[in-house]
Amino acid sequence: MQLKKKGLLIVLSGPSGVGKGTVRKALFAQKDVNFQYSISVTTRTPREGEKDGVDYFFKTREQFEQMIKENKLLEWAEYVGNYYGTPVEYVEKTLAEGKDVFLEIEVQGALQVKKAFPDGLFIFLLPPSLEELKNRIVTRGTESADLINNRMKKAKEEIDMMDYYDYVVVNDEVNLACEKIKAIVTAEHCRRERV
Ligand code: 5GP
Repeated sequence: MQLKKKGLLIVLSGPSGVGKGTVRKALFAQKDVNFQYSISVTTRTPREGEKDGVDYFFKTREQFEQMIKENKLLEWAEYVGNYYGTPVEYVEKTLAEGKDVFLEIEVQGALQVKKAFPDGLFIFLLPPSLEELKNRIVTRGTESADLINNRMKKAKEEIDMMDYYDYVVVNDEVNLACEKIKAIVTAEHCRRERV
């Protein structure tokens, strides 16, 4: 039987420091994953090794604001002083081709996507514990105690948004989190596809 294959919009989100980027990179390094990664636009400066058009499309604030005005973004948010957004054209085109699109974005943006695409698949990545999240934030950067406390406060607010999501995955081990995400996507296709 030939099933009608529809592209799924998969949104991976979660609090700052939970390891969304690490999980996303590990997922896309696997051969059996054929989601299409939606490359975001950002105004932050590239980190060492990052390439324009691969990791992000790096833009000026003026260019980004122009994209907002021209409705070229599916969602956008300001995060730690920089803009981040998802180009809408790529998402719509790729879904129309029947392919799965994968977004890895912070919580404010994910809630905007949920309004525009209520049929999307929303996965929330949780830290094993708040202590572990704090450890990750502390070891990641050279941030002051004040900033770390701010991040923790924000993370707790973000965790409160968990109920808006379809699935919760605890990121205690990256490969295990990847396996769970793949299993969720497979199950969602089986749940949604009909002849
Ligand atoms: P980073 O600067 O570390 O690459 O990303 C910072 C945060 O921005 C991460 O939480 C990441 O998930 C989020 N992010 C990346 N791209 C987008 C996007 O297009 N939209 C939104 N809302 N957040 C994004």
